[in-house]
Amino acid sequence: MPTAASQSATAIVRAVRAGETTPAAALQDALARAEAARGLNALISINEHAGEHAEAVQARLKAGEALPLAGLPVVIKDNLNLTGTRTTCASRMLEHYVSPYTATAVQRLISAGAVVVGKANMDEFAMGSSTESSAFGPTLNPWDLARVPGGTSGGSAAAVAAGITAVSLGSDTGGSVRQPAALCGVYGLKPTYGRVSRYGLVAHASSLDQIGPLARSAADLALLMNVIAGHDPRDATSLDAPPAFAAGTPDDLRGLRVGVITESLDGNTAGVSAVLAGTLDALRGAGATVGEVSLPALKHAIAAYYLISMPEASSNLARYDGMVYGARGAGDDVSSSMIHARESGFGREVQRRIMIGTYALSSGYYDAYYSKATRVRRLIADEFGAAFGDYDVLVTPTSPFPAFRRGEKTSDPLAMYAADVDTVAVNLAGLPALSVPAGFEEVDGRRLPVGIQFIAPALHDELLLRIAGGLEGTGHVRAEAAPGVLG
Ligand code: GLN
Repeated sequence: MPTAASQSATAIVRAVRAGETTPAAALQDALARAEAARGLNALISINEHAGEHAEAVQARLKAGEALPLAGLPVVIKDNLNLTGTRTTCASRMLEHYVSPYTATAVQRLISAGAVVVGKANMDEFAMGSSTESSAFGPTLNPWDLARVPGGTSGGSAAAVAAGITAVSLGSDTGGSVRQPAALCGVYGLKPTYGRVSRYGLVAHASSLDQIGPLARSAADLALLMNVIAGHDPRDATSLDAPPAFAAGTPDDLRGLRVGVITESLDGNTAGVSAVLAGTLDALRGAGATVGEVSLPALKHAIAAYYLISMPEASSNLARYDGMVYGARGAGDDVSSSMIHARESGFGREVQRRIMIGTYALSSGYYDAYYSKATRVRRLIADEFGAAFGDYDVLVTPTSPFPAFRRGEKTSDPLAMYAADVDTVAVNLAGLPALSVPAGFEEVDGRRLPVGIQFIAPALHDELLLRIAGGLEGTGHVRAEAAPGVLG
């Protein structure tokens, strides 16, 4: 029996384990859907070794191994290393780079029986909010092909929304799993900093980066988190907190203390405000109490985020000189060759960030910019801490607006940065947060998905999936099939 595009990861794994289908057949289905959805440009490459990997899973099943992700096709963002595949970070700089090793999170998927179908498109080096800065062309939003899927994990989100795979991995430095999940109508979790190993994730801003899963149900997110989370000695920031994820039921909402962050109530489209209000009603209806809480330092979150992420990025990207790492530049001497490598290898946004980041770290400006931003970061973390004295979970829209049109913000970097207003503070504070597909806004006669974000205290990632499952149970939250793509 072929696996359907709308089939859940849980159902695919069950069918493979029951012998109703094989890993190779599930892979073929996913590849056929990737081919049919080629126009979305969600994938940068197909994993040429996927067939062998599927056969290996079959052999392990035959040998009696109990594999929690048996034969599950997955898509991973193209900043995650997988031995023998290209890892481009959607950049010319790494266009021909073939990974000599595998990221821990990806290895855990494979060890559990998953099969990597392909590598997802993204903003170059995970810098952006729309997947338009990819050197390999933009990804389209399956809900409206004229619009962006969000970013930077836009390929991972579009692949799941379009049913190429049931689940995918992205990375989230300032919202890059949650915002594309919201704009594509799927679930996206940014785990507590340290919950998922960053080993093998190409670094953007190391103090903020986290790998996170995207899926079409809370149960599927739980399935993935139970595999990818956990301590890894290869990541010095990895935490030792064994995962115990499960999708909840409406019972989990009873008595839950929900705090709406008042700073997130302004500047939203009417549709986003309406979906937030509807979500709060659903929570109250299920027995939660809903209050409002102000975190005044959040008005500085975007400034602090960019003044921390850009300096970190400028240091992390210093290694791409065309000598040790990255495509070789032309030139008669070392310095002109390096300059050429960096000018031709990096796109405009990446170059802009390297320059601003370097400036903010330079002597005489360090105190005014980088150091001040780290103090704001502490203030934000403290305000979250105080809010969690009164509330179990905090809620905001994931994005102030649904998917915007391609090209709408590309000439205005500040407008693009402003798209992250609801997500970046979570990374600064190292907290877990989940975007759930909570409704739609109708724009120009089309329904565009709207995401609502739940933020939990550090290491309370499990609570987020209980809430998501609870809201699914009330019927308020669900990932619908994108029109004409899912079958
Ligand atoms: N949009 C944010 C940025 O451009 C977040 C990116 C991310 O999370 N990788 O930095």
